[in-house]
Formats: sequence, C-alpha cells, structure tokens
Amino acid sequence: MLDVTEIFNSLQGEGPFSGQPAVFVRLSGCIEPLCPWCDTMYACDTGYSMNLDDAYRKIVSFDTNLIVITGGEPFLQWRNGLKQLEKNLLDQGCRVQYETSGKIEIPSDTKGFSVCSPKYLDDRWVFDKINLKRAQVFKFVVDNDFDIIKAFTQRHDISPELVFIMPKGISRKEQLDKFEDTWSFCLENGFHFSPRLHVLTFNNKRGV
Ligand code: SF4
Repeated sequence: MLDVTEIFNSLQGEGPFSGQPAVFVRLSGCIEPLCPWCDTMYACDTGYSMNLDDAYRKIVSFDTNLIVITGGEPFLQWRNGLKQLEKNLLDQGCRVQYETSGKIEIPSDTKGFSVCSPKYLDDRWVFDKINLKRAQVFKFVVDNDFDIIKAFTQRHDISPELVFIMPKGISRKEQLDKFEDTWSFCLENGFHFSPRLHVLTFNNKRGV
C-alpha cells in the first residue's frame, strides 16, 4: 500500500525536465522541520491508502512516459511499496523522476533520476550528505539567500551545470518579483535558471 495525496497528469513545471508531459504521483508525509514556504503542505500529512496495483494502473492510464514521484518526501515510502512501483514503471518503459528534499537518504538501489532540493532551515542545512553522491541534480529555492546557496555548492564541490535555481514564491507575482535577481545569480555562477511554469501559468492553483 502507498500513502497517496494525489495522482494527476500535467507538465513538469520546474527543473531539468521542465515543460515535458508528466504524470505526478504525490505521496504523503514529510520530515520535520517543515519548510515555511512549502506550497504542498497538504501532502505533509496523511493522505489516502492506495493499493500498489491500483496506483500503477492509474499512472499508466494517462499514457505518459515521464512519471514524477514527489511529496511530501517520497522516499519515506521506499520500503512500503515505492521500490516495487518504480520497478513496475521501469519494466513498462516509463522514465521515473523523483523530487526529494534530501532530508533522508536517497535509496542506493533506486534506478530513478533524483532531483534533490536541499533545505536551509533554522540556520542549518537539513540534508543527508550521502545524497551528494546519489542525486543526479540539485535544485535550490532561492529568496535572498544567494550567498548561503553558493557556499553550499562550493563547499560540496557541486558542478554548476548540475545546479538549478528557482525563485521562491507560490504566486505568479512572487515569482516574477524575484526573476531579475535570480537571473543575475545564475548568470554569475553558471547555474541553470528554473522558473516554476505551473505557478506562472496557473498562479497558486492546486493539482496542475
Ligand atoms: S521538504 Fe518539500 S514537501 Fe516537505 S515541507 Fe519542505 S517543501 Fe514541503
């Protein structure tokens, strides 16, 4: 069984697969401390129990090749069904991409593509360093904390081409207000600029 918040078909709005059609599987539950700016706080609580076969059937019914498994923190459920779901989806020829905070270990045996978004909370990085070797790319939500993010990437010797920077903001206006500074930060450091396309398109609407 999986603890699920929602499953829906959409476009990936951010990060390296931005703009691609994707099924979103939002699993429930997260790890404290929670992020005050979180735009999916509704997924940090318990969702509904879904049988693995039912989840798989619903996902493949959309006939979309890219499956984004997100949360909350999806890897909390690795041993409770997620590992088997990944296998079933890969066997079907799907691509599996994870959105993880890196607050816990990315499993060593996942074959998915992990986009890790480390969180700076209560004056520290809430991040398991083993994920430096397990994540494929890193995505940072930036507000005015440019120096903190830059220092993190330098301290851990993360190649700039693996870094995606997203302006913080759950509304279109908040996003756009931070575009210019984010643009300059990326240009100066060789990072990718990742807008949040779903926020720019639908503002703060849920399930898109
Ligand atoms: S880790 Fe992600 S899902 Fe969890 S509280 Fe932070 S932003 Fe929200």
